[in-house]
Amino acid sequence: MDICVVGAGYVGLTTSAVLAKLGHTVWCCDRDDIKISSLLNGHIPIFEPGLEELVQQGTKNNRLFFSSDVPLYVEKCPVIMVAVGTPSAPDGTADLVYVKSVLLTVANGMQEPKTVIIKSTVPPGTGDWAQDFFLRRGVPKEWVEVVSNPEFLREGTAIHDSFHPDRILVGASSVQAGTLVASLYDGISAPVLHTGRTEAEMIKYGSNSFLAVKLSFINELARLCEAFRADITEVAKGIGMDERIGARFLQAGIGYGGSCLPKDVSALIATAAGKGMGLKLLEAAAYVNETQVQVYVTKLTRELGALKPGMTIAVWGAAFKENTDDLRYSKALVLMEELAAKGCGVTAYDPLSSPDMDGVQWAASQLEALAGADALVVATGWKQFVDADWQVVKAAMKGKLVVDARNVLDRAAVEEAGLHYIGLGRPRKR
Ligand code: NAD
Repeated sequence: MDICVVGAGYVGLTTSAVLAKLGHTVWCCDRDDIKISSLLNGHIPIFEPGLEELVQQGTKNNRLFFSSDVPLYVEKCPVIMVAVGTPSAPDGTADLVYVKSVLLTVANGMQEPKTVIIKSTVPPGTGDWAQDFFLRRGVPKEWVEVVSNPEFLREGTAIHDSFHPDRILVGASSVQAGTLVASLYDGISAPVLHTGRTEAEMIKYGSNSFLAVKLSFINELARLCEAFRADITEVAKGIGMDERIGARFLQAGIGYGGSCLPKDVSALIATAAGKGMGLKLLEAAAYVNETQVQVYVTKLTRELGALKPGMTIAVWGAAFKENTDDLRYSKALVLMEELAAKGCGVTAYDPLSSPDMDGVQWAASQLEALAGADALVVATGWKQFVDADWQVVKAAMKGKLVVDARNVLDRAAVEEAGLHYIGLGRPRKR
């Protein structure tokens, strides 16, 4: 099938490469000329393991093409997939400005029947609104089918997740449109769930919100564990062994970030508010998450006596999690801002990113970041941080404090090197 994917970001680019691999001819379009030129020159503008090879394969096989001429390919292709961003607006709602601009481009270029797939995460009711939008723009009813097809990939494992999803979700108002969209994924062995459009949109928000609640729950339980000197890693293991609960997303740490959970939680809360309803559980999850960095600032203050000018804190990790260069809503960056605001010197290192930030100096290596540091905070769980040689770390630092903000380090190994380990809800064994 000829498909125009609009948006060459983490989702659009990955999905384009995957659809090309499945045998479709894909025009991946973005209005960002720099991104498209980079792709045309064979450079992948984001870091995603395995993506470069898959994109190269697609272009070599004449299955995957790139263009910044969105109107041209939107007009040419019978299937359009909208994969543009839906960031948080200042009032917490999902800002649909990019989605709406693509829909307008589609409506303006409508010369023949089309299936418009909304892959972007959009609030419940958006697909129905889009279907009406086309009618209001004078597009004949039988010419356009809007289908919701939310994405569940995770950055860092996006290719694996795309080929091995837990489910393929297709929300359509007609069997024919739903079947056509499901058939795009022929070749992927996964259950296909057919629902209505609004149900599909709700499932996407419900899933992300549930994950956020799970994370905030374990983070709050970890705070309580500290009061009892109980080990949250053992507690989480025991809870997660219950099949009704499951072990994933039960790792206590500095809080969830990234381009999805914070904004989707906030969008669902705002969507409910628009219907005159409060989502108290989600509001609480968001509150716990917003205050989680402060838990670590308090720990640092307690251990070091004060956080003040003249002190240097090394921070390992900038991205919101390991194996990605995505800095959106990264808790590591929030922590760095907090430390810099208190006048501390911050020396930081991340294998992929070094964004300009007031008061933060980026080191060329994780060891270089330690020079003169009173404390080290491991803020992202990159393997190279987890596998650090703690004797070498000890020799490179001025102080002895290691704060494990992801509960990923081997406490015994850190302590054997003569360092002082602090995690969240991980007391020293009595
Ligand atoms: P992104 O910011 O990485 O990419 C969006 C792209 O859309 C950008 O390259 C931008 O230039 C382009 N764009 C915006 N307006 C455009 C227009 N009018 N015409 C053409 N291109 C346009 O975003 P992303 O992380 O890929 O997320 C896309 C959507 O998928 C969001 O709704 C997000 O919530 C959802 N999602 C993201 C993930 C994830 O892990 N990143 C996972 C599941 C779902």
